[in-house]
Amino acid sequence: MNKLINYHEKQVENKSETISVFFINDNNQPLNTLETQLEDFGYTVNILNSIEDFLSTISTLKEDLALNQNQTLYFFINTIFINDMTVKVIEYAKLHFEDDIHFIYYSDNNNISAHLQGIRNYGEAFLSTPLEASEIAEIITRQCKKNKSPYRILFIDDDESIGTYYRNVFNKAGIICQHISNIDNVLNIITEFKPDLLLIDYYMPECSGFELAKILRQRINIELIPIVYLSSETDPVIHLKSISDGVDDFLDKSTKSFFIINNLKSRIKRARSLRSLIMQDSLTQLYNHAMLEEHLDLEIYRSFRNSSEFCYVMIDLDNFKSINDQYGHIIGDKVIKTLSVFLKQNLRQTDIIGRYGGEEFGIILPDTTIEKAYAIINTLREKFSEIMHSSESKVFLVTFSAGISSFPEKINRLEIIEEADQYLYQAKDAGRNLVYPIK
Ligand code: GH3
Ligand code: MG
Ligand code: MG
Repeated sequence: MNKLINYHEKQVENKSETISVFFINDNNQPLNTLETQLEDFGYTVNILNSIEDFLSTISTLKEDLALNQNQTLYFFINTIFINDMTVKVIEYAKLHFEDDIHFIYYSDNNNISAHLQGIRNYGEAFLSTPLEASEIAEIITRQCKKNKSPYRILFIDDDESIGTYYRNVFNKAGIICQHISNIDNVLNIITEFKPDLLLIDYYMPECSGFELAKILRQRINIELIPIVYLSSETDPVIHLKSISDGVDDFLDKSTKSFFIINNLKSRIKRARSLRSLIMQDSLTQLYNHAMLEEHLDLEIYRSFRNSSEFCYVMIDLDNFKSINDQYGHIIGDKVIKTLSVFLKQNLRQTDIIGRYGGEEFGIILPDTTIEKAYAIINTLREKFSEIMHSSESKVFLVTFSAGISSFPEKINRLEIIEEADQYLYQAKDAGRNLVYPIK
């Protein structure tokens, strides 16, 4: 059974998907450099100039759908194209592609009636012209994050048959569930499995759910994970006492699965959004400094256990002070956002990206040799240096430098960061727009 879950999980996590971006755009306002800029972000881009093209594209895509399950479609539609026929095509497309198709509208008018038209026709976002590649990439990255990564529940119950029952119930609802029947190894399992929620039986022979919840609540990296009891206990006094002791809810095993699932899903959804507020840097939605360091500790621990290697990369934008001086701080911020979206788009889902500070980023590349890391980061450096950034009046290029350290060459967090920082410094010294050590 475990094998099956792992398989399911792998399928979801390895889902390397193609992102196709379509514009339904007015011929008179060509999209100029936008197409190449978006291709730099790794998207396939198509520009359509009429509703007839839109209809025939949807029909072709529908035939492709059976062949390519991992395709997500983003249609950016100029609001001038909204009419009865367009709406019919959109509804037809939504019916067939469901969550794999997204509609975003744009207009020269930033007024409320244009927004309304969008919202009434499945619009998930609204942009004003001129369209910016970084804004588009941000919308796409946000949607991808929202749709992916299934919920994960760790279910702790001494009864194997109950464990198997609920695991099946949750899996059917698209939730990844691991069941454990004894608590010997629970802390390690939490670190490895990374559950969104802990579902605990209230009465267990080794220790009560109450004692276990107390232990778990004292661990910093578990503090934010909701804990819910699932038990045959129906005494409301015990329920209330548990909740006042800091457990999130008490569900009774006689409750219908449908209600249990919905309760847990909404708890996970809320916990995820709270967690991301705490963990994220507000400008880039990447991990903040503290979370990056916590992930580095977790990766060191994981790599020790698995005898695997990983690399840590420090990236720093080159001559960024002069970008701010020339184009202003707001444009500077936009460059930082563009780099963050570019990194998210071009690295694996399992890589961990954080904003270390100002214009510095830290990246953890699990299971990666330093040679491989050099190749990856150097390619990103080249690609990023070709992205055109724009201020009101000018188009300009920006580069970054990077330093890489690796585990187990260095084994503690401070040494790992220090080494990457030193290589970054050497890359700057050698003229910038470089990755060190050269491999
Ligand atoms: P180097 O190539 O040596 O890294 O040169 P640099 O100019 O990038 O380096 P320095 O560290 O001297 O300057 C970094 C600048 O980045 C200083 C600061 O004004 C700017 N900066 C830091 N954080 C932000 C931010 O959040 N937004 C913007 N717009 N600028 C920032
Ligand atoms: Mg810099
Ligand atoms: Mg700096």
